[in-house]
Amino acid sequence: MAKIELKNLAHSYKPNPTQPSDYALKPMNMTWEQGGAYALLGPSGCGKTTLLNIVSGLVKPSQGQIFFDGKDVTALPTEQLNIAQVFQFPVIYDTMTVYQNLAFPLKNRHVPAAAIDARVKEVAKMLDLERDLTRKARGLTADMKQKISLGRGLVRADVGAILFDEPLTVIDPHMKWQLRAQLKRVHEQSNVTMVYVTHDQTEALTIADKVIVMYDGEVVQIGTPQELFERPAHTFVGYFIGSPGMNVIAAEVAGDVARIGPHQIALGRPVTAPAGAKKIELGIRPEFITLNGTADGIPVKVKRVEDTGRFQIARVELEGMPLAVIMPEDARIDGDVARLSVDQKHLHVYADGHLVEG
Ligand code: ATP
Repeated sequence: MAKIELKNLAHSYKPNPTQPSDYALKPMNMTWEQGGAYALLGPSGCGKTTLLNIVSGLVKPSQGQIFFDGKDVTALPTEQLNIAQVFQFPVIYDTMTVYQNLAFPLKNRHVPAAAIDARVKEVAKMLDLERDLTRKARGLTADMKQKISLGRGLVRADVGAILFDEPLTVIDPHMKWQLRAQLKRVHEQSNVTMVYVTHDQTEALTIADKVIVMYDGEVVQIGTPQELFERPAHTFVGYFIGSPGMNVIAAEVAGDVARIGPHQIALGRPVTAPAGAKKIELGIRPEFITLNGTADGIPVKVKRVEDTGRFQIARVELEGMPLAVIMPEDARIDGDVARLSVDQKHLHVYADGHLVEG
Protein backbone atom coordinates (compact mmCIF):
# COMPACT_ATOMS: atom_id res chain seq x y z
CA MET A 1 0.00 0.00 0.00
CA ALA A 2 1.21 3.46 -0.74
CA LYS A 3 0.59 7.08 0.04
CA ILE A 4 1.07 9.06 -3.16
CA GLU A 5 2.02 12.73 -3.16
CA LEU A 6 2.18 15.07 -6.13
CA LYS A 7 4.27 18.17 -5.62
CA ASN A 8 4.07 21.13 -7.98
CA LEU A 9 3.34 18.69 -10.78
CA ALA A 10 2.66 20.06 -14.27
CA HIS A 11 2.91 18.77 -17.81
CA SER A 12 3.03 20.16 -21.31
CA TYR A 13 3.28 18.05 -24.45
CA LYS A 14 4.81 21.09 -26.19
CA PRO A 15 8.61 21.38 -26.28
CA ASN A 16 8.71 25.06 -25.25
CA PRO A 17 5.57 25.90 -23.30
CA THR A 18 5.17 29.61 -22.66
CA GLN A 19 1.58 30.17 -21.55
CA PRO A 20 -0.92 28.33 -19.30
CA SER A 21 -2.89 27.03 -22.29
CA ASP A 22 0.27 25.14 -23.44
CA TYR A 23 -0.11 22.87 -20.40
CA ALA A 24 -2.24 19.71 -20.41
CA LEU A 25 -1.77 19.76 -16.62
CA LYS A 26 -1.36 23.04 -14.76
CA PRO A 27 0.77 23.00 -11.56
CA MET A 28 -0.94 20.93 -8.87
CA ASN A 29 -0.31 19.56 -5.39
CA MET A 30 -2.22 16.58 -4.11
CA THR A 31 -2.00 13.74 -1.59
CA TRP A 32 -3.64 10.36 -2.10
CA GLU A 33 -3.75 8.69 1.29
CA GLN A 34 -2.78 5.07 1.69
CA GLY A 35 -5.83 2.85 1.20
CA GLY A 36 -8.00 5.64 -0.23
CA ALA A 37 -10.28 5.26 -3.24
CA TYR A 38 -10.01 8.29 -5.52
CA ALA A 39 -11.73 9.07 -8.79
CA LEU A 40 -10.33 11.52 -11.32
CA LEU A 41 -13.44 12.90 -12.96
CA GLY A 42 -13.76 15.43 -15.75
CA PRO A 43 -14.72 15.94 -19.38
CA SER A 44 -12.73 14.62 -22.29
CA GLY A 45 -9.38 16.40 -22.66
CA CYS A 46 -9.19 17.79 -19.10
CA GLY A 47 -5.96 15.88 -18.37
CA LYS A 48 -7.10 12.78 -16.44
CA THR A 49 -5.15 10.26 -18.50
CA THR A 50 -2.09 12.51 -18.58
CA LEU A 51 -2.10 12.63 -14.78
CA LEU A 52 -2.57 8.88 -14.45
CA ASN A 53 0.18 8.19 -17.00
CA ILE A 54 2.55 10.44 -15.06
CA VAL A 55 1.81 8.67 -11.78
CA SER A 56 2.32 5.29 -13.43
CA GLY A 57 5.67 6.37 -14.89
CA LEU A 58 4.56 6.15 -18.53
CA VAL A 59 4.92 9.90 -19.06
CA LYS A 60 7.63 11.97 -17.40
CA PRO A 61 6.28 15.31 -16.12
CA SER A 62 7.63 18.63 -17.41
CA GLN A 63 7.76 19.87 -13.84
CA GLY A 64 7.35 18.66 -10.24
CA GLN A 65 7.74 15.43 -8.32
CA ILE A 66 5.85 12.28 -7.37
CA PHE A 67 6.43 10.57 -4.05
CA PHE A 68 5.38 7.04 -3.09
CA ASP A 69 5.51 6.66 0.70
CA GLY A 70 7.84 9.65 0.90
CA LYS A 71 10.26 8.34 -1.74
CA ASP A 72 10.78 10.44 -4.87
CA VAL A 73 9.85 8.13 -7.78
CA THR A 74 9.58 10.81 -10.49
CA ALA A 75 12.44 9.41 -12.56
CA LEU A 76 11.64 5.70 -12.07
CA PRO A 77 10.30 3.59 -14.95
CA THR A 78 6.89 1.87 -14.59
CA GLU A 79 8.45 -1.56 -13.88
CA GLN A 80 10.14 -0.24 -10.77
CA LEU A 81 6.94 1.22 -9.34
CA ASN A 82 4.91 -1.10 -7.20
CA ILE A 83 1.63 -0.47 -9.01
CA ALA A 84 -0.94 -2.35 -11.08
CA GLN A 85 -2.77 -0.80 -14.00
CA VAL A 86 -6.05 -1.55 -15.70
CA PHE A 87 -6.71 0.13 -19.02
CA GLN A 88 -9.80 0.98 -21.03
CA PHE A 89 -9.40 -2.07 -23.27
CA PRO A 90 -8.69 -5.59 -22.02
CA VAL A 91 -5.03 -6.55 -21.83
CA ILE A 92 -5.11 -10.35 -21.66
CA TYR A 93 -3.60 -13.35 -23.41
CA ASP A 94 -6.15 -14.99 -25.70
CA THR A 95 -4.39 -18.35 -25.82
CA MET A 96 -4.30 -18.74 -22.03
CA THR A 97 -7.13 -19.84 -19.79
CA VAL A 98 -8.82 -17.44 -17.42
CA TYR A 99 -6.83 -19.02 -14.57
CA GLN A 100 -3.51 -18.59 -16.39
CA ASN A 101 -4.32 -14.98 -17.19
CA LEU A 102 -5.08 -14.22 -13.56
CA ALA A 103 -1.98 -16.07 -12.41
CA PHE A 104 0.33 -14.33 -14.88
CA PRO A 105 1.32 -11.23 -12.84
CA LEU A 106 2.14 -13.50 -9.86
CA LYS A 107 4.05 -16.08 -11.90
CA ASN A 108 6.09 -13.24 -13.36
CA ARG A 109 7.16 -12.33 -9.84
CA HIS A 110 8.00 -15.94 -8.95
CA VAL A 111 5.29 -16.25 -6.30
CA PRO A 112 5.10 -19.91 -5.05
CA ALA A 113 2.49 -22.03 -6.86
CA ALA A 114 0.34 -22.64 -3.77
CA ALA A 115 0.14 -18.93 -3.02
CA ILE A 116 -0.72 -18.23 -6.67
CA ASP A 117 -3.49 -20.78 -6.57
CA ALA A 118 -4.98 -19.35 -3.39
CA ARG A 119 -4.86 -15.76 -4.64
CA VAL A 120 -6.25 -16.56 -8.13
CA LYS A 121 -9.18 -18.37 -6.54
CA GLU A 122 -9.74 -15.50 -4.14
CA VAL A 123 -9.82 -12.91 -6.95
CA ALA A 124 -11.96 -15.18 -9.13
CA LYS A 125 -14.44 -15.36 -6.28
CA MET A 126 -14.48 -11.57 -5.84
CA LEU A 127 -15.25 -11.12 -9.53
CA ASP A 128 -17.57 -14.08 -9.88
CA LEU A 129 -15.21 -15.85 -12.28
CA GLU A 130 -14.87 -19.11 -10.36
CA ARG A 131 -16.83 -21.17 -12.87
CA ASP A 132 -14.83 -19.79 -15.82
CA LEU A 133 -11.28 -20.50 -14.66
CA THR A 134 -10.63 -23.33 -17.12
CA ARG A 135 -12.07 -21.53 -20.14
CA LYS A 136 -9.74 -20.18 -22.84
CA ALA A 137 -9.80 -16.37 -22.97
CA ARG A 138 -10.24 -16.45 -26.74
CA GLY A 139 -13.91 -16.47 -27.59
CA LEU A 140 -15.03 -14.83 -24.35
CA THR A 141 -17.18 -11.70 -24.60
CA ALA A 142 -15.58 -8.23 -24.31
CA ASP A 143 -17.24 -7.90 -20.87
CA MET A 144 -15.65 -11.12 -19.64
CA LYS A 145 -12.26 -10.17 -21.05
CA GLN A 146 -12.35 -6.84 -19.24
CA LYS A 147 -13.35 -8.62 -16.04
CA ILE A 148 -10.24 -10.77 -16.40
CA SER A 149 -8.22 -7.62 -17.01
CA LEU A 150 -9.60 -6.19 -13.78
CA GLY A 151 -8.72 -9.45 -12.05
CA ARG A 152 -5.14 -9.20 -13.30
CA GLY A 153 -4.96 -5.70 -11.89
CA LEU A 154 -6.27 -6.87 -8.54
CA VAL A 155 -4.40 -10.15 -8.20
CA ARG A 156 -1.15 -8.81 -6.75
CA ALA A 157 -1.91 -8.33 -3.09
CA ASP A 158 1.42 -6.54 -2.57
CA VAL A 159 0.88 -3.57 -4.91
CA GLY A 160 1.01 -0.07 -3.47
CA ALA A 161 -1.66 1.28 -5.75
CA ILE A 162 -3.97 0.24 -8.57
CA LEU A 163 -4.55 2.76 -11.33
CA PHE A 164 -7.65 2.35 -13.48
CA ASP A 165 -8.13 4.25 -16.75
CA GLU A 166 -11.83 4.12 -17.67
CA PRO A 167 -11.92 0.32 -17.34
CA LEU A 168 -15.68 -0.01 -17.66
CA THR A 169 -16.13 1.98 -20.89
CA VAL A 170 -16.44 -1.14 -23.04
CA ILE A 171 -18.67 -2.96 -20.57
CA ASP A 172 -22.36 -3.58 -21.12
CA PRO A 173 -24.37 -1.03 -19.02
CA HIS A 174 -26.09 -3.77 -17.05
CA MET A 175 -22.84 -5.43 -16.11
CA LYS A 176 -21.30 -2.04 -15.19
CA TRP A 177 -23.33 -1.77 -12.00
CA GLN A 178 -22.25 -5.23 -10.93
CA LEU A 179 -18.58 -4.54 -11.64
CA ARG A 180 -18.65 -1.17 -9.86
CA ALA A 181 -20.05 -2.85 -6.77
CA GLN A 182 -17.45 -5.63 -7.03
CA LEU A 183 -14.62 -3.11 -7.38
CA LYS A 184 -15.86 -1.20 -4.36
CA ARG A 185 -15.98 -4.44 -2.36
CA VAL A 186 -12.53 -5.50 -3.52
CA HIS A 187 -11.17 -2.15 -2.43
CA GLU A 188 -12.75 -2.41 0.99
CA GLN A 189 -11.30 -5.88 1.46
CA SER A 190 -7.82 -5.13 0.17
CA ASN A 191 -7.38 -1.55 1.41
CA VAL A 192 -5.03 -0.78 -1.48
CA THR A 193 -4.77 2.82 -2.77
CA MET A 194 -7.02 3.06 -5.80
CA VAL A 195 -7.06 5.84 -8.40
CA TYR A 196 -9.81 5.60 -10.94
CA VAL A 197 -10.12 7.75 -14.08
CA THR A 198 -13.57 8.28 -15.50
CA HIS A 199 -15.72 10.88 -17.22
CA ASP A 200 -18.83 9.17 -15.84
CA GLN A 201 -20.06 10.91 -12.69
CA THR A 202 -22.12 7.92 -11.50
CA GLU A 203 -19.07 5.71 -11.73
CA ALA A 204 -16.91 8.23 -9.85
CA LEU A 205 -19.49 8.75 -7.14
CA THR A 206 -20.17 5.04 -6.58
CA ILE A 207 -16.57 3.85 -6.57
CA ALA A 208 -14.61 6.61 -4.84
CA ASP A 209 -14.56 7.99 -1.31
CA LYS A 210 -13.00 11.17 -2.68
CA VAL A 211 -13.66 12.55 -6.13
CA ILE A 212 -11.11 14.84 -7.79
CA VAL A 213 -12.88 17.00 -10.35
CA MET A 214 -10.66 18.25 -13.15
CA TYR A 215 -11.35 20.91 -15.73
CA ASP A 216 -8.99 22.21 -18.37
CA GLY A 217 -5.84 20.77 -16.77
CA GLU A 218 -6.71 21.93 -13.26
CA VAL A 219 -8.15 20.36 -10.15
CA VAL A 220 -11.27 22.38 -9.37
CA GLN A 221 -12.50 20.46 -6.32
CA ILE A 222 -11.64 17.43 -4.23
CA GLY A 223 -14.48 16.15 -2.09
CA THR A 224 -16.78 13.37 -1.04
CA PRO A 225 -19.70 12.74 -3.39
CA GLN A 226 -21.92 14.54 -0.86
CA GLU A 227 -19.64 17.60 -0.67
CA LEU A 228 -19.55 17.89 -4.45
CA PHE A 229 -23.30 17.70 -4.60
CA GLU A 230 -24.09 20.03 -1.73
CA ARG A 231 -21.29 22.58 -1.98
CA PRO A 232 -19.79 22.75 -5.46
CA ALA A 233 -16.64 24.87 -5.21
CA HIS A 234 -16.98 25.96 -8.83
CA THR A 235 -19.94 26.42 -11.16
CA PHE A 236 -18.36 23.79 -13.42
CA VAL A 237 -18.54 21.18 -10.63
CA GLY A 238 -22.18 22.08 -9.96
CA TYR A 239 -23.03 21.79 -13.60
CA PHE A 240 -20.96 18.66 -14.32
CA ILE A 241 -22.19 16.68 -11.30
CA GLY A 242 -25.90 16.10 -11.10
CA SER A 243 -28.51 15.25 -13.65
CA PRO A 244 -29.61 17.80 -14.61
CA GLY A 245 -26.70 19.79 -13.20
CA MET A 246 -26.84 22.85 -10.97
CA ASN A 247 -28.66 25.90 -12.37
CA VAL A 248 -26.36 28.90 -12.73
CA ILE A 249 -28.12 32.26 -12.82
CA ALA A 250 -26.58 35.72 -13.46
CA ALA A 251 -27.38 37.97 -10.49
CA GLU A 252 -26.28 40.90 -8.37
CA VAL A 253 -25.58 40.47 -4.69
CA ALA A 254 -25.81 43.14 -1.98
CA GLY A 255 -25.58 42.11 1.67
CA ASP A 256 -27.98 39.25 2.28
CA VAL A 257 -30.06 39.77 -0.87
CA ALA A 258 -29.53 38.64 -4.45
CA ARG A 259 -31.19 40.45 -7.36
CA ILE A 260 -32.18 38.83 -10.61
CA GLY A 261 -33.57 41.61 -12.81
CA PRO A 262 -36.48 43.11 -10.84
CA HIS A 263 -36.70 40.10 -8.48
CA GLN A 264 -35.09 39.59 -5.10
CA ILE A 265 -34.04 36.39 -3.34
CA ALA A 266 -33.03 36.38 0.32
CA LEU A 267 -29.68 34.63 0.81
CA GLY A 268 -30.19 34.07 4.52
CA ARG A 269 -26.68 35.38 5.29
CA PRO A 270 -24.62 38.32 4.11
CA VAL A 271 -22.32 37.52 1.20
CA THR A 272 -19.49 39.77 0.05
CA ALA A 273 -18.22 39.15 -3.44
CA PRO A 274 -14.47 39.71 -3.88
CA ALA A 275 -13.57 43.18 -5.12
CA GLY A 276 -13.14 43.31 -8.87
CA ALA A 277 -15.20 40.16 -9.58
CA LYS A 278 -16.51 40.39 -13.13
CA LYS A 279 -19.32 37.88 -12.96
CA ILE A 280 -21.64 37.14 -10.04
CA GLU A 281 -23.89 34.10 -10.30
CA LEU A 282 -26.23 32.12 -8.11
CA GLY A 283 -26.08 28.34 -8.10
CA ILE A 284 -29.07 26.22 -7.13
CA ARG A 285 -29.65 22.57 -7.88
CA PRO A 286 -32.91 21.50 -9.58
CA GLU A 287 -33.64 19.38 -6.49
CA PHE A 288 -33.81 22.46 -4.24
CA ILE A 289 -36.29 24.56 -6.22
CA THR A 290 -40.04 24.40 -5.66
CA LEU A 291 -42.67 25.57 -8.12
CA ASN A 292 -45.93 26.98 -6.76
CA GLY A 293 -44.93 26.19 -3.19
CA THR A 294 -45.58 29.79 -2.05
CA ALA A 295 -47.84 32.51 -3.44
CA ASP A 296 -45.06 35.12 -3.34
CA GLY A 297 -42.49 33.11 -5.32
CA ILE A 298 -40.73 34.60 -8.36
CA PRO A 299 -42.77 34.24 -11.56
CA VAL A 300 -41.17 31.98 -14.18
CA LYS A 301 -42.32 30.85 -17.63
CA VAL A 302 -42.88 27.11 -17.88
CA LYS A 303 -41.51 25.91 -21.21
CA ARG A 304 -42.06 22.17 -20.85
CA VAL A 305 -42.16 19.29 -18.39
CA GLU A 306 -40.25 16.04 -18.97
CA ASP A 307 -41.26 12.84 -17.22
CA THR A 308 -38.38 10.50 -16.35
CA GLY A 309 -40.69 7.89 -14.82
CA ARG A 310 -39.25 8.50 -11.34
CA PHE A 311 -39.58 12.30 -11.22
CA GLN A 312 -40.38 15.16 -13.55
CA ILE A 313 -38.07 17.88 -14.82
CA ALA A 314 -39.72 21.23 -15.43
CA ARG A 315 -37.81 23.46 -17.86
CA VAL A 316 -38.60 27.05 -16.93
CA GLU A 317 -37.30 30.50 -17.80
CA LEU A 318 -36.43 33.18 -15.27
CA GLU A 319 -35.75 36.57 -16.85
CA GLY A 320 -34.81 34.79 -20.06
CA MET A 321 -32.46 32.33 -18.30
CA PRO A 322 -33.25 28.59 -18.57
CA LEU A 323 -33.59 26.65 -15.30
CA ALA A 324 -34.34 23.01 -14.54
CA VAL A 325 -36.57 22.08 -11.61
CA ILE A 326 -37.03 18.55 -10.31
CA MET A 327 -40.63 17.90 -9.28
CA PRO A 328 -42.27 14.84 -7.75
CA GLU A 329 -43.87 12.45 -10.20
CA ASP A 330 -47.41 13.46 -9.22
CA ALA A 331 -46.93 17.28 -9.29
CA ARG A 332 -48.99 19.23 -11.84
CA ILE A 333 -48.55 22.78 -13.11
CA ASP A 334 -51.57 24.58 -14.53
CA GLY A 335 -50.83 27.25 -17.12
CA ASP A 336 -47.47 28.47 -18.37
CA VAL A 337 -46.49 30.63 -15.41
CA ALA A 338 -45.34 29.23 -12.05
CA ARG A 339 -44.01 30.76 -8.82
CA LEU A 340 -40.49 29.71 -7.98
CA SER A 341 -38.98 29.48 -4.50
CA VAL A 342 -35.61 28.11 -3.43
CA ASP A 343 -34.22 26.26 -0.43
CA GLN A 344 -31.99 28.99 0.98
CA LYS A 345 -29.40 26.69 2.49
CA HIS A 346 -28.67 25.22 -0.93
CA LEU A 347 -28.39 28.59 -2.67
CA HIS A 348 -24.76 29.42 -3.44
CA VAL A 349 -23.09 32.58 -4.70
CA TYR A 350 -20.24 32.37 -7.22
CA ALA A 351 -17.82 35.09 -8.28
CA ASP A 352 -16.14 34.42 -11.63
CA GLY A 353 -17.07 30.75 -11.24
CA HIS A 354 -15.70 30.31 -7.71
CA LEU A 355 -17.86 29.72 -4.65
CA VAL A 356 -18.09 32.73 -2.33
CA GLU A 357 -18.32 31.57 1.27
CA GLY A 358 -21.20 33.32 3.04
P1 ATP B 1 -10.12 11.60 -22.38
O1 ATP B 1 -11.21 11.36 -21.38
O2 ATP B 1 -10.65 12.00 -23.72
O3 ATP B 1 -9.09 10.53 -22.42
P2 ATP B 1 -8.45 13.14 -20.62
O4 ATP B 1 -9.14 13.97 -19.59
O5 ATP B 1 -7.87 11.85 -20.18
O6 ATP B 1 -9.36 12.94 -21.88
P3 ATP B 1 -5.84 13.71 -21.68
O7 ATP B 1 -5.91 12.53 -22.59
O8 ATP B 1 -4.94 13.65 -20.51
O9 ATP B 1 -7.31 14.10 -21.19
O10 ATP B 1 -5.50 14.98 -22.56
C1 ATP B 1 -5.25 16.28 -22.00
C2 ATP B 1 -4.78 17.20 -23.11
O11 ATP B 1 -3.50 16.81 -23.57
C3 ATP B 1 -5.69 17.22 -24.34
O12 ATP B 1 -5.72 18.52 -24.85
C4 ATP B 1 -5.00 16.28 -25.30
O13 ATP B 1 -5.27 16.63 -26.64
C5 ATP B 1 -3.53 16.50 -24.97
N1 ATP B 1 -2.72 15.28 -25.17
C6 ATP B 1 -2.92 14.07 -24.60
N2 ATP B 1 -1.97 13.19 -24.99
C7 ATP B 1 -1.15 13.86 -25.83
C8 ATP B 1 0.02 13.51 -26.57
N3 ATP B 1 0.57 12.28 -26.49
N4 ATP B 1 0.60 14.47 -27.31
C9 ATP B 1 0.10 15.71 -27.39
N5 ATP B 1 -1.01 16.12 -26.72
C10 ATP B 1 -1.62 15.21 -25.95
